[in-house]
Order: sequence, then C-alpha cells, then structure tokens
Amino acid sequence: MHLLTLGGRVKQVQPFKGFPPFDLGGEFIHGSNTVVNKIAHDSGWLVLPSSHCEDEEEGTKIYYKGKLHSLSSDQPEIKQARDTWSKIINSKYTCQDDEGESVSDSVQIRLEEKGLSRDVLDVIDWWKMKISAGSLVHYGVREGRRRMESKYEWGLGDFRLAESYSQLVKYYLDNSVHVDKRLNWQVKEVVWKGDDWSSSNLGGRILLRNQHGEVLTAKYVVITVPLTILQDGDITFIPALPVNKNAAINTIQMRGAWKIVCRFKHRFWPDKLQQIYSVRGFSSEIWTHSCDSPDSDVKCHVIVGFETAEPAEEKSVLSGQEVLDGFLSHLDEMFGTVSDPHPATDSIMDHVYFHWSNHPFIRGGYSSPTAHAYDLRHVLASPVEDRLFFAGEATSLRSCSTVPTAIETGTRVADEVCHSAGLNPCAKL
Ligand SMILES: Cc1cc2nc3c(=O)[nH]c(=O)nc-3n(C[C@H](O)[C@H](O)[C@H](O)COP(=O)(O)OP(=O)(O)OC[C@H]3O[C@@H](n4cnc5c(N)ncnc54)[C@H](O)[C@@H]3O)c2cc1C
Repeated sequence: MHLLTLGGRVKQVQPFKGFPPFDLGGEFIHGSNTVVNKIAHDSGWLVLPSSHCEDEEEGTKIYYKGKLHSLSSDQPEIKQARDTWSKIINSKYTCQDDEGESVSDSVQIRLEEKGLSRDVLDVIDWWKMKISAGSLVHYGVREGRRRMESKYEWGLGDFRLAESYSQLVKYYLDNSVHVDKRLNWQVKEVVWKGDDWSSSNLGGRILLRNQHGEVLTAKYVVITVPLTILQDGDITFIPALPVNKNAAINTIQMRGAWKIVCRFKHRFWPDKLQQIYSVRGFSSEIWTHSCDSPDSDVKCHVIVGFETAEPAEEKSVLSGQEVLDGFLSHLDEMFGTVSDPHPATDSIMDHVYFHWSNHPFIRGGYSSPTAHAYDLRHVLASPVEDRLFFAGEATSLRSCSTVPTAIETGTRVADEVCHSAGLNPCAKL
C-alpha cells in the first residue's frame, strides 16, 4: 500500500489545549446510516449530532444582503432560489418529467432559460452548490439529483465523531497491521502493458516507480489518488490510460477548498445559531461549535469558516493573516452592534487555517456534481483490463465527495480485485 501521508483529506489538528482535535478536512458524517455510523456503533464511539438545535428555523440561516434570513424565508430572491432548486434537483418530492428529456444537464443553462436575476442565481450558487464544492458554471443536474437521492438514503441529519475523524484513521491502522505501508512513496510512473512491459522480466506484473526511481511490482494496482493528481498528470501511465478514462478524469470537476477554525473568548453569536450560508460572503459556509473541556469548566467557543470551488481557489494566494482578517471582518459585519462593532476581531484567541488547494498531494477539496459527467463517473470507476483499479471519493457512483463514500469505493474495488484474482470477496473493514 502506498501512501504519501496518513489520512489524506482526513486530517486533524489540536490547536486548543485540553480540547478534542478539530478536523481540517472531512468533519461531518452526512446521515445516520452510513458506513461510518456503522463502524462507530460497532466500535462504541460517541457520535454527536452536529446541531444541538432541533429547530432548523433557529439553527440555520442564510446571510444575504447584510441580513440573516431563515431557510424558509419569504424574502423574494431566497424564496425563488429555494423553489427553483427544489424543482430542478430535489427529485424526491417533485416530478422533473414535465421538463422533458431534451433539457440540458447544465444547471446554469436551465437557470438561465428561466430568466432568473443575478441575485437569485447567486443565492442558489452559494446556498446550494458550494456545499458540494460545485458552482453554477459546472454543476450537473443528473449528478446533483443522484447526490440528493443518496442523502435521503443515508438520512438528512449531520453528525460528527466526538473525538474527530482521527478515530477512523486509527481504526483502519489497527485493522491493517499486517499490511506493508509506505509513507512518502510518491508513485510517478505505472508501466502496466506494452513493449516495455513484455520485454522486461516483470513476469506479467505491473511496475510502479516512485520519485526516487525506486521500483515495486504488483499483480493488481488500485489507484486512489485525488482526481486533481490524475488531471495534473503526476503519474505517467505506460501505455496511456484509455481515451474514455482520460475524458472522465478531465471532465469531472474537483475545485479548491479551505477551512479556518477560530476560537473566541466569548460567544457573541445567538445561542441557537449553528450554521450560516453566506451569499457572496468571505466564506460561503460558517458553523459554530462550543465544546466543553473534559478536565475543567472551560468552554471552547469556536466558529469555523469553510469555502469551496472558484471563490476558494481565488484565496489560495492570500496569506493566512489575510484570510483571518477577511473572515473576522465578515463576522464583525454579521454580528457587530453599535455598542460592540467588532465582536469577532476583539475576541479572537487563536485560529488554524488550511487551504487544501495548496496541499502538494491533494490540490483541492473534493469532486463535485458535474454537468455531462453522470455516465463518466462509471467510466472513472471502471477497471482497466482487470489490472488497474480505481477507487477514492471521485469514483463513487452514489454520491461523490464524502468520507463514507470514499470508504465504500475501497470496499467495491477490493471485491473487484478479488473477483479478477478468482478469490472470494475480501473481508469488509
Ligand atoms: C475541507 C474539506 C472538508 C470536507 N468535509 C467533509 C465532511 O464534512 N464530511 C465528509 O464526509 N467529507 C468531507 N470532505 C471530503 C472527504 O474528506 C473526502 O471525500 C475523503 O476523505 C476522500 O478520501 P479519498 O481516500 O478518496 O482521498 P484522499 O483522502 O485524498 O487520499 C488520497 C491519497 O493519495 C495520496 N497521493 C496523492 N498523490 C499520490 C501519488 N502520486 N502517489 C501515492 N499517493 C498519492 C494523497 O497524499 C492522499 O493520502 C471534506 C474534504 C475537505 C478537503
């Protein structure tokens, strides 16, 4: 098994002494019925609802044109955005068939056909698309619907592991003690067929070469690198991957993402407020989190800022200080009052910021529902000549982009390899 780093996009930091680690990448379990919930249940881990507020009206807001609105607000642009999105994507409760089969798979084209204003388009973009790392320009209807269907299957609530996703990383390490794991082994070349291959003494095995020219051989290879790594051509395949595989790699979108975790001296936001979608804001999503110290009465008041897609990529050139300043100003604008105009700037204690586009071996957030990619997902996931296999979140045929779906693709590919090797399906971790 070749890994550059343990955990990949599951990564923790423990910036606030005495409190559990924070997840800088995957953090929530989207649903109550995923493979992660099952592992957590069987392992006896504490799983917490991400929101302590039962009432969504109070707990989740949209920040639009200087005001916090409820998700069911009658504010005209918000209402129009909600209704339009529901008609296009929410296939559970609405019938799309009345739109006919000839309509475009591009959400942007469909919305433009409806003649919606720029404001409504932006509300849809920031409220509905950024959370799946998508954006108006490339979001796909069919993939968006598939993502929605999976949400219903797994359950609509969001949860988190009390001790962070580090529990899951440890779980897999404990369950793979006999696996030969190599860190900092960057695969640069995969020779899997052709003249070089048959004239060598590889005995039908695939050759892998790393950044130092070191070589390993294997009968089957599973490629699980982020989509960006394949798009950027980090790995040379000899011979090249089939044309349709490359088309899938280059069509499916995986754009940038960053996260900032800020600790404040006191809580300056309303008690029940848990989550904000900020339209055209400095960060498109904001959530609050207050946790207790296991050893004392001290509270840790945290606000997390999160952004994906093109606006996130634009910030990849900013310094950490610039992002912190921009984020705090955004919070001041939202929560400042006449008597306390800069509540965030004045009460910041500490922070951690991480931009995933700048991670040398990830270079983005996660793949997003993409126009004209519905069938290409299957192409991306399919083995090449039963020798090269493909896993990782972008290859999920249910819903891309999450930790549980990444795990599911690993199980799928393990079964595919076993099948090719004439073995019984592998044990499921
Ligand atoms: C900011 C952020 C927030 C997120 N939030 C959530 C969330 O709340 N809930 C959720 O479920 N999911 C979330 N996700 C998504 C989730 O983290 C990912 O979908 C999932 O972890 C992807 O797992 P993976 O195994 O497909 O890829 P990765 O974890 O990225 O693993 C790929 C590995 O390939 C390695 N690699 C790269 N190049 C090479 C090479 N040439 N040779 C060898 N190895 C290489 C990388 O170092 C990495 O370790 C989030 C992601 C981000 C970035």
